[in-house]
Amino acid sequence: MTVGGRAVGRDFVLIAGPCAVETEERTIRTARLVKEAGAHMLRGGAYKPRASPRDFQGLGEEGLRILAAAKAETGLPIVTEVMDARHIEAVAACADVLQVGSRNMQNFTLLRELGRIRKPVLLKRGMSATLAEWLSAAEYVLDGGNEDVILCERGIRTFETATRNTLDLAIVPAAMAVSPLPVIVDPSHATGRAALVKPMSLAAAAAGADGLLIEVHPDPALAASDRGQQVTPEEFAAIARAVLSLVAWLASPEGAGA
Ligand code: PEP
Ligand code: MN
Repeated sequence: MTVGGRAVGRDFVLIAGPCAVETEERTIRTARLVKEAGAHMLRGGAYKPRASPRDFQGLGEEGLRILAAAKAETGLPIVTEVMDARHIEAVAACADVLQVGSRNMQNFTLLRELGRIRKPVLLKRGMSATLAEWLSAAEYVLDGGNEDVILCERGIRTFETATRNTLDLAIVPAAMAVSPLPVIVDPSHATGRAALVKPMSLAAAAAGADGLLIEVHPDPALAASDRGQQVTPEEFAAIARAVLSLVAWLASPEGAGA
């Protein structure tokens, strides 16, 4: 599958952007900065799955309009979450890749409906899903004839509280050993801590991930959601430089161990 000229699964993909779409100005500014830093796609939630109904739920359709404006401005393909089968048409009209969040990994009605469209689906691993359950969830989409599923490891629930989740990097080569689907890693939700995003990004690339999904906000302390884990555009630029040079080295004869 090709998104924005990148063959996902072959070309390493950097997906970056805010947790949630907040304002048009901020979204476009972030899009420009992450593009300059080397991002290949822009992420941002218009529909946000929040633990509490009192928390910011996203801008909905207005958020989709802002994402479309950011794409028109920068040319970056859009990755955004679809939470409800009733929103698929509207989300697909704006998104190049439709994200299914962890909380919906086993929403089989939603997955079946996504099997009927012809746009890539980024399927996040459920927070307590085994590899077998994750791959079975992907089959609900694939069985509908939509062959473009990207798996995304975003950390699983364990006893550890020092990080938001526990990043399961071993699952990257383990999934690749049994499935042809591309596997990317989200170090932002996996750790919940901005300072851990760079080391886990490098570790994910070293583990063979096909790409990264990283939350970036121009002023993380003021973000409407996920404040602690979003990196600044400057930090993202440093992460992108380090990761892309590691990826290039891994592809070189020396890095490949040839
Ligand atoms: C997100 O990507 O913004 C998100 C809500 O992620 P997850 O479903 O992994 O919690
Ligand atoms: Mn988030």
